[in-house]
Amino acid sequence: MAEKITPRATNYSEWYLDIVKEAGLAQNAAGVKGCMVIRPTGYALWEKMQRALDRLFKDTGHVNAYFPLFIPMSYLAKEEEMAEGFAKECAVVTHYRLKAEPGKPLHVDPTAELEEPLIVRPTSETIIWRTYKDWVQSYRDLPLLINQWCNVVRWEMRTRLFLRTAEFLWQEGHTAHASAAEAEEETHKMVRVYQKFAEEWMAMPVLVGPKTDGQKFPGAVYTLCIEAMMQDGKALQAGTSHFLGQNFAKAFDVTFKDKENKEEFAWATSWGVSTRLIGGLIMTHSDDNGLVVPPRLAPTHVVIVPLGKNDAERGPSIAAAEKLAAELRALPRDEFFGYEPISVKIDTMFDKQPGFRYAEHEVRGVPVRVEIGPKDIEKAACAVARRDVPGKEGKQFGVALATAADHIAKLLRDIQQALYDRARAYRDGCIATANTLDEFKALFPVEKEDGGTTAGLKFVYAHWDGTRETEDRVQAEYKATIRCLPFDGPVEAGTCIFTGKPSARRVIFARAY
Ligand code: AMP
Repeated sequence: MAEKITPRATNYSEWYLDIVKEAGLAQNAAGVKGCMVIRPTGYALWEKMQRALDRLFKDTGHVNAYFPLFIPMSYLAKEEEMAEGFAKECAVVTHYRLKAEPGKPLHVDPTAELEEPLIVRPTSETIIWRTYKDWVQSYRDLPLLINQWCNVVRWEMRTRLFLRTAEFLWQEGHTAHASAAEAEEETHKMVRVYQKFAEEWMAMPVLVGPKTDGQKFPGAVYTLCIEAMMQDGKALQAGTSHFLGQNFAKAFDVTFKDKENKEEFAWATSWGVSTRLIGGLIMTHSDDNGLVVPPRLAPTHVVIVPLGKNDAERGPSIAAAEKLAAELRALPRDEFFGYEPISVKIDTMFDKQPGFRYAEHEVRGVPVRVEIGPKDIEKAACAVARRDVPGKEGKQFGVALATAADHIAKLLRDIQQALYDRARAYRDGCIATANTLDEFKALFPVEKEDGGTTAGLKFVYAHWDGTRETEDRVQAEYKATIRCLPFDGPVEAGTCIFTGKPSARRVIFARAY
């Protein structure tokens, strides 16, 4: 099975696509450029993410609602920055009918042109704030803390499964508040929710901080983000939380009477994460044998592989497998597993060699594999292999069947922690500082631009003069962008390494997906 996967060191992009394919996560949609079919295992992973995030949103007071897929073009036009930002990638609906005439190819009915074109939502601020106009009159109507789970379309030219697709699944939070302070608090709260999800569920460490003005969301006053580092040293913007000020309230005339009966515009935030997170998860943990999934998000936690040469040998193995599966499923539900039972599968591919069967589960990233064969049955034991440590090192023989369920439940927790620790150590080891332009150039060599292996790239702290001009120049020359101004980063002032002008603080540069 592993031969099907290109090693990371040979070609990282190929490796990524091989994992997506061989683990059965997604594929390019036939005939629809830039769009993907999310296959059942990939969708199960998304459902796990959704459930965990949804609970975090509800725990912070949010509720779900649904708004239309179509947005009148004039709504988008109302917020200038947003219109400009999204115009280049909007899918537009101009007609509402086709004509099927005998002997003629199916075609658009020219008489069925819409009076006003509709755009397919690239994000829903405009339709939602148009709705909030009807919902908000008094300070008593605030705050509105609403989230929507849906699909959006951004006509991206260069796409890659999960990481950047023309249609993607996401959630978008849209909140309205009576004061700037409250909206800003929400903006920060939600980026921390994303950090918690990334670190505690995805086991993916992230840097948290504001984007530069050049990189912020169109229509936002500022954008906070979580940035993760992939195993090739490239950054992935994994989630964003925007403080929108009163921009959308002003565009859609959403005002409320405050306690003093004074008319005021409402304050807004929006925040989102998408199916891109699945790409981030793959690129953070997986190895040359296939997918590695942190147990808290694994669709299947444990696979039990009963072994035996013939029916007589297999019978007791299967019985022991079924007993262990039942014990695992019956363990008390807890927060770690999202109050869901541990998910166990029994592999009955007896027509295949054990090695093939193991590799199959490895490639799909099942966190724990249990093997039970005739020799184990004699000793009332089993072998337990952890996916995060491939090969012999990760396999423990002679685990007593009587206590195997508890042992495995604990092992799943250990794996979750080990994955985070490993990713964190890797990420921390890839943070560098450039004090001069020469140092910076050495960290972003031209030959490592695209394709092939890019291993060795880093998150680079460097002083920057704060201007858009310098930021654009660095991007053009070194293909490195400012990922964020990390809240936890060094804040001392210095001199910009590109222009020699004063710099307020170091920022993080990286090549990014
Ligand atoms: P934004 O609305 O641009 O702030 O994006 C919200 C979230 O969607 C971010 O976390 C992005 O990482 C993600 N995202 C943006 N564009 C795409 C895309 N084309 N495919 C997948 N995810 C995306």
